[in-house]
Amino acid sequence: MSAPTLVVSDLHLDASAPEVIDQFIEFLRTEGRNASALFILGDLFEVWIGDDDPDPAKARVQAAIRELTSAGVPCFVMHGNRDFLIGRRFAAATGCVLIDDRGTVVEIAGQRALLLHGDVLCTDDHDYQRLRRRVRNPLTKAILRLLPLGTRRNLAAKMRAGSKAHIAKSMEQIMDVNPAAVEQAFRTHGVDLMIHGHTHRPAVHRLTVDGRPATRIVLGDWYDQGSVLRFDATGYELRELAR
Ligand code: MN
Repeated sequence: MSAPTLVVSDLHLDASAPEVIDQFIEFLRTEGRNASALFILGDLFEVWIGDDDPDPAKARVQAAIRELTSAGVPCFVMHGNRDFLIGRRFAAATGCVLIDDRGTVVEIAGQRALLLHGDVLCTDDHDYQRLRRRVRNPLTKAILRLLPLGTRRNLAAKMRAGSKAHIAKSMEQIMDVNPAAVEQAFRTHGVDLMIHGHTHRPAVHRLTVDGRPATRIVLGDWYDQGSVLRFDATGYELRELAR
């Protein structure tokens, strides 16, 4: 029997919560080591100001991922809205392959699956989509990468303060996906399985798109416990990892 494929998302790793980092590293060394592949669907880090950030907590995580890929387990990482500045140096350091967070189709356990971070599906949040277009523009990203590390650190702190004020105003953390955007994504990519994170609303949704059954699996965040989706020859299981 072939080894299982694992999918995680929204770990939001940060030096301020070392217990989450410990849990993830333990996960990589145990379940991860026996996997045929690991997919990380964005927001691996709470914030990523550039591949040149010397933060020791981030270095620890990168070393642990390198251990996994060196052991022969392929690892695929996409950007989230928090860590979209992850770049080539990170990929080289960890041995990960960067994949497109707006939609990458892969084959998992014999089934075609669309993987995405999930924020592009939240089309009802117009303020967020406007911000996304602005900061994810390749030119903006190139300019950001040229700024001194300290300037990028200050900018990230300001953006986080701003998004906290926004959260307080709307009383809702992250808007959920728009159903029409979900249907369109199934259609565009010609799949009947979609897996994403971002909304922090872990669930398995069954729906019908153009008369065909479709499944949308949403991974949970790692703030209070882990969340992992595991595929093997017998099917899939979305479960919490107790902390
Ligand atoms: Mn996110």
